[in-house]
Amino acid sequence: MMGVLHSINAGIVVIDRDYKITLWNDFMVSRSGKRADAAMGKVIFDLFDEIPVNWFRRKVESVFTLGNRAFTTWEQRPYLMKFKNFRPITGVAEFMYQNVTFIPLLGVDGNVNHAGIIIYDVTEMAVGKQALEGANNELERLSRTDRLTDLYNRGYWEECLAQEFARYKRTGQKATLVMFDIDHFKRINDTYGHQAGDEVIRQVSRTLRRTIRKVDIAGRYGGEEFAVILVDTSEENALILAERLRKRIEELSVSHDKQKIQFTISLGLSMLEESVTGYTNWLERADQSLYHSKENGRNQSTVFSPQLIKELKSAG
Ligand code: GH3
Ligand code: MG
Ligand code: MG
Repeated sequence: MMGVLHSINAGIVVIDRDYKITLWNDFMVSRSGKRADAAMGKVIFDLFDEIPVNWFRRKVESVFTLGNRAFTTWEQRPYLMKFKNFRPITGVAEFMYQNVTFIPLLGVDGNVNHAGIIIYDVTEMAVGKQALEGANNELERLSRTDRLTDLYNRGYWEECLAQEFARYKRTGQKATLVMFDIDHFKRINDTYGHQAGDEVIRQVSRTLRRTIRKVDIAGRYGGEEFAVILVDTSEENALILAERLRKRIEELSVSHDKQKIQFTISLGLSMLEESVTGYTNWLERADQSLYHSKENGRNQSTVFSPQLIKELKSAG
């Protein structure tokens, strides 16, 4: 019996009602570096500072008083005792992840006078699962991201737009949408080449990111068209930001093959209000405002108004 306990690939510890160790198998010796004669008779949490005493007492008391088994997994608590992880295959983890089982041990008098603690090394599984989660998160991030600019791509950005609209309906919290498009971008491509065009798009994204707040939701809507949801922002404040962005872009000078490329953007704004019928309508309004900026000479911002629609209609 003792031979099995010592050769098993898990830690086996037995404690009495005073938390004193009465059994310490070879696994525990090799992983903890404490020999059996150093462990036997010692109160377990005196020997291992990392064991949270209150938590441990609660766990073990239920084993003693109710005669129940108890468990804890590495996801709830990575380890009971901090053992250095020395196995090369799971070398990425600095300590051994553990699942721990507490079992009641009946004495000849029929009472539970001892508790057995079984410690399983689950480092490989934990590391594997964490790596998988990391990979999934990265995939998720990639699926939302535009490769050229690192902004949200159109699909994900539109999901955010729908959510933001739903939030407005629920809470009444305002938000303003800003759409903008690079002026005469085709000329940039034609004059300096596609690579230069890409660099211009990248620099615009960088300027955008530097101009907005962390909570604002920026996306690349199309080739050289961008959209940003300014959360909890009124039309007036959105216009201040839009104009700041417009001027920064106007002052920007993108270097390409020893040449300096300068350009402008046109912007359209629309604030959420009662008459907005849905998120597509919200988007349409910003688009109409943007169209007005283009028609009106470019390098400017237009705020949506019903009057604007009349103007656009009468202009054909
Ligand atoms: P406007 O002032 O009216 O906006 O004129 P524009 O020339 O900017 O607009 P237009 O829609 O005529 O041309 C946009 C061009 O953008 C056409 C397309 O080839 C180019 N384009 C779209 N995506 C990319 C991209 O990722 N990289 C580069 N370099 N060019 C792109
Ligand atoms: Mg354009
Ligand atoms: Mg365009």
